[in-house]
Amino acid sequence: MTGDRGIIFNIKKYAIHDGPGIRTTVFLKGCPLSCWWCHNPEGISSRPHLVYRRDLCVGCGECADGCAKNAISLTPEGMLTDASLCKLCGVCAEVCPAEAREFIGQIQEAARIMEMIEKDIPFFDESGGGVTFSGGEPLFQPAFLLELLDACGRKGIHRTVDTSGYADKDILMAVAEKTDLFLFDLKMMDPEKHKRFTGVSNEKILSNLVYLAREGASISIRIPLIPGINDDEKNIEQTATFVEKLPNVRDIHILP
Ligand code: SF4
Ligand code: SF4
Repeated sequence: MTGDRGIIFNIKKYAIHDGPGIRTTVFLKGCPLSCWWCHNPEGISSRPHLVYRRDLCVGCGECADGCAKNAISLTPEGMLTDASLCKLCGVCAEVCPAEAREFIGQIQEAARIMEMIEKDIPFFDESGGGVTFSGGEPLFQPAFLLELLDACGRKGIHRTVDTSGYADKDILMAVAEKTDLFLFDLKMMDPEKHKRFTGVSNEKILSNLVYLAREGASISIRIPLIPGINDDEKNIEQTATFVEKLPNVRDIHILP
């Protein structure tokens, strides 16, 4: 996919916890990590996907009737979808009267997203806010992210990138040139533990954080404190020792 189009799964307006001021947060779909405690699991897959909630399903059969591919059938487990037949058209979610089927993720033009963002410029100006690119992992769609960052920059909109820090250095360098603030997740210091609970080692992440700090990027570190996983004294001490050596860290937030 080129930079003028990408896949998102949400746009949140009037966000007040995603950086300074009032912000519009764009959630890019796809993430190379799979954290045990992920708050946005719908953002992990880089493709659109269907979610079926059996507890909401009233068994009306509208979804099966509406599916041109005959991919949906009634089973003892509810209305199940044959993934080999499904073309991800989203019709079944549109016709479902009970919101039991949800189609998550849409391919969107960068220009269309900018139209939505620009409507909020008066709020940004009034509050010192701007736009935040989150996910998923926004650096997972680098061309699309760079296109959006460029477009926001041309409009003078403050740009924040909320990242796990897991990206190749050349991508990070290009993004850093167009980013006013990084919200950088620092999960845990032990590489083996990090791999066990997130699916990847933290070596690239820590190296990228050091790089950004030394290059003068503005960084707000965010530590999701997960009971029984990273709230032990050893991890907290190692994190503090690591962070205190970094220049340009503007603040540290502990996330519950
Ligand atoms: S997304 Fe489209 S093809 Fe897939 S099950 Fe629903 S209606 Fe059928
Ligand atoms: S349309 Fe919705 S409520 Fe009706 S059977 Fe399908 S999933 Fe269930």
